[in-house]
Amino acid sequence: ADLGALIAARVRDVPDYPQPGVVFKDITPLLADAGAFGQVVGAVVAQYGAGAVDKVAGIEARGFILGAPVADRAGAGFVPVRKAGKLPSQVIAASYDLEYGSATIEVHADAFTPGERVLIVDDVLATGGTARAAVELVRRAGATVVGVSVLLELAFLHGRERLDALGGVETRALL
Ligand code: 5GP
Repeated sequence: ADLGALIAARVRDVPDYPQPGVVFKDITPLLADAGAFGQVVGAVVAQYGAGAVDKVAGIEARGFILGAPVADRAGAGFVPVRKAGKLPSQVIAASYDLEYGSATIEVHADAFTPGERVLIVDDVLATGGTARAAVELVRRAGATVVGVSVLLELAFLHGRERLDALGGVETRALL
């Protein structure tokens, strides 16, 4: 009955992936469970009122898997936020620092119309660098971020605080 407990039971800890010392949260067992997957999608959709979201922006790659069914059930369109160089048309880009080096994400320049209400979806909020860059992209496109929704938040990495610092962003995690 408790969705948090169900998620905890279906997310697998993989030690030393992608590098030694990191414990990776693997969501593939959850995705493979029809009931759990459906409940997660429903729970994210239920965070917002009917008609409250115009577009869902899903972050590559697992944010696509969660964000697309959320968009469909919410009656919203879907926009892919991709790693640099993957989108075919004109893009806007945002870069952010990683522990070693930096990363860049992009959206199509015409993906949003000014004033659209956008929900950003990803699987895991870690340091918040990725989600923060996604908020920046949506805002630069002239749209409004109604929230950032993730399946699970690694609270010890303080990603939520980095999003709170932007102002006006509701961060919601199912676990
Ligand atoms: P952040 O930018 O918040 O540090 O990292 C979040 C991004 O990296 C998300 O796009 C997420 O998919 C991915 N990520 C980081 N750590 C994990 C993890 O332990 N499990 C999964 N599934 N994704 C992770």
